[in-house]
Amino acid sequence: MTIRTILTYPNPLLRQKAKQVGTFDKELEQLIDDMAETMYDAPGIGLAATQIGDSRQLIVVDISKEKRDKDFMPLVNPRIVSSEGQQIDEEGCLSVPELTSNVKRFKKITVAYQDITGEAAEITAEERFAVVLQHEIDHLHGILFIDHLSPLKRQLYKKKVKKMLAGEERPSG
Ligand SMILES: [Zn+2]
Repeated sequence: MTIRTILTYPNPLLRQKAKQVGTFDKELEQLIDDMAETMYDAPGIGLAATQIGDSRQLIVVDISKEKRDKDFMPLVNPRIVSSEGQQIDEEGCLSVPELTSNVKRFKKITVAYQDITGEAAEITAEERFAVVLQHEIDHLHGILFIDHLSPLKRQLYKKKVKKMLAGEERPSG
């Protein structure tokens, strides 16, 4: 397993739309293992292939009951097939350093996906787990959580990033 580099905003690769996975082989398993390793190292609770510069429709999400368990679930070609309700919860992103913000999401979603062998499956998620899935699936469409914020908040963040990149402000994390 290899820890991969997580791309950060404004890297243009984060805006790529991921392609459907058609091949379920050892290489895909390897990529999933690397993504899980990278996610737990960060640490994070979800990671999309887009975030490590791979343009496949693939996400991994943490499903551990205890933090030390490191149980994760890979979802290949995931898409939201039904949704209901609304919730607002605080989000952050490994690809968007130094920012957390409230984002409005569906409260409950059903996601169709394929497992590591290509078998079709469905999962229904609510509350926080539904937020994580929506956030990660967004990545596969080139969408970041800052795209859900008000234009003003987004502008402020862009300015902050510019300053950080110019070295005027050192990131604290
Ligand atoms: Zn993210």
